[in-house]
Amino acid sequence: MASNLSILFRLISSYLLIIVVVLLSGIYTIWNLSEINRLIQTVTNDDAREIHLSEESLEILYSATAAEEKFFVSRDKAYYRQFKTLGAEFDKQMAELASLADTAKKQELLARVRTLHNDYGRLFDDTADPTGARSVPDREIVRFRAAREQIASEAAQRLRELARVASAERDERLVRIEAISVRTANAILVSLIVAVMMVIVISAFNTHSVSGPISRLREKTKAIAGGDFGEPLNISSPPEIRELADAFNAMCDRLRELDQMKIDYIGHLSHELRTPLTAIKEASSMLQEGLFAALPERERELQGLIRQECERLIRSVNRLLDFSMMESGMMPLTLQDAELPQIVEKNLQRFSPLAQRKNIALQVRIPPDLPRLRMDTEKIEVVLENLLSNALKYTPDGGLITITARYRADTNCVEVAVSDTGRGIPESGLQEVFEKFRRVDDGKGAVRGTGLGLAIVKHIINAHGGRIWAESEFGRGSTFTFSLPA
Ligand code: ADP
Repeated sequence: MASNLSILFRLISSYLLIIVVVLLSGIYTIWNLSEINRLIQTVTNDDAREIHLSEESLEILYSATAAEEKFFVSRDKAYYRQFKTLGAEFDKQMAELASLADTAKKQELLARVRTLHNDYGRLFDDTADPTGARSVPDREIVRFRAAREQIASEAAQRLRELARVASAERDERLVRIEAISVRTANAILVSLIVAVMMVIVISAFNTHSVSGPISRLREKTKAIAGGDFGEPLNISSPPEIRELADAFNAMCDRLRELDQMKIDYIGHLSHELRTPLTAIKEASSMLQEGLFAALPERERELQGLIRQECERLIRSVNRLLDFSMMESGMMPLTLQDAELPQIVEKNLQRFSPLAQRKNIALQVRIPPDLPRLRMDTEKIEVVLENLLSNALKYTPDGGLITITARYRADTNCVEVAVSDTGRGIPESGLQEVFEKFRRVDDGKGAVRGTGLGLAIVKHIINAHGGRIWAESEFGRGSTFTFSLPA
């Protein structure tokens, strides 16, 4: 399954995985930082203010007690007012503290302090007379002091406890801040290590899954460069490299085929060149030795044979030259307007002696109104020469060769067909015959040839913007048709 993943998919998914790890760690860090920030805010604003207010309220309480003491001693109204002002100040502090109290414990302590303070105020109001109309007996003052002492000391105790609870909460928050900081630092460190490890592992895996097959491809290329085709490469993953390996295997098969073809072809070509040379050598030796000096008829026959073999040699060498020019792209066309019948006629004249010798009839059917064609006459002569020589070569004595031409208005082309009543071509070989070096084995014995003629013909026709194809009824004859734009 993993082997079917493309390189692109592997890279994208691995980097996405790393990004997800980094993102998760980032989100976790941000979340923790905002928690730390919230705690710091609470500590610096709420807790500090609570502690401060508790301590200040305690101070106010002490100051109020002192003011009230002074009032009872001096009966000075200023102390009475100071007590009242401090009482109002105390209430304000209590209200602010109530708004800050975030736990039931604190609220409970505050409620108690407020009740005690109210009791203290009421007690004072009941005892003190700011107008001085009533003189307060000492006994009453003593009773007041005893009651106030109790209320004030409990209120002071509660306020101190409130300050202590706020300090404890502040300390607990500071400890939490420290714990979260450590946890965040650890998480960042772990995610960093995990991300780095993932980068290393994923990169190593991806690199290995690509470089492994590539180095096998490289080894195979070297082996092929050394002429060893060996077994086809079997690379299953990743798909891009598998496709490359498949293409590489196809190329190897083709190279192997070409290599074999080259070996076969060199053998065939040597034979093709050696046979006429041997015949020429034998015939000329016989003539030189004067073996048939008394038989002029026989001598003429030998001279004819020498000439015929020389022509065959020249034809073979010409094909090789044409082919090498075609392969090196040095077969330029010199286009001109020309009449097709004239070229056909010229070729017929050249081949009619051979046709007569083989008792093969040559027929031409070309309409007189055939349009003139823009072509390289020399090259089209080569085309006709190849098609006619093949037809003569592969048609047994007594056969018929027909050359027809017609104009096709639908494609605006002139189609020329060379048909014979020869051995024909098997269905499987109809396309192959146009490939270079390809000689069709039809099981009817070898006929001499270079295997280049039709490849050259196809190249010339294609260069003219035309098309060539073969039709055949195996054992009964073949037709080679080419079309040229009119
Ligand atoms: P060659 O020099 O071998 O004839 P060609 O390229 O001209 O090379 O032809 C390729 C092959 O096509 C031949 O070897 C032959 O098998 C087949 N061929 C060509 N023309 C004919 C034909 N008229 N009849 C039968 N087979 C033909």
